[in-house]
Amino acid sequence: MSIYNHLEIEARCPRCGVVSTSDAEFRFGLRELVRYRRGDVLRWEGKGVRTPAHRPEGGDYRGEAYAECPACGRDFWLVVHVEHDVITSYEVDAERPGYVNP
Ligand SMILES: [Zn+2]
Repeated sequence: MSIYNHLEIEARCPRCGVVSTSDAEFRFGLRELVRYRRGDVLRWEGKGVRTPAHRPEGGDYRGEAYAECPACGRDFWLVVHVEHDVITSYEVDAERPGYVNP
């Protein structure tokens, strides 16, 4: 089973250019449908599906997140940065294509 977490994002959609707030999904940390915001401490350990299996060295991690634009309904990817267990930043990965057709 594929369980993910949520990250509240404000981002400019690379497909239509509209800036909006939405929920991205990501599959790292303890994956149990936790809702995070930037600045939150990511939980690594616990009972359930974990990616990676244990807290990475120093609590640093770089992962991906997936979002759908509320304005145009098309999808895009983001890169998420975790430093010392804190979700410090994210940015749109403009190089990576979404699944929904342009
Ligand atoms: Zn859009």
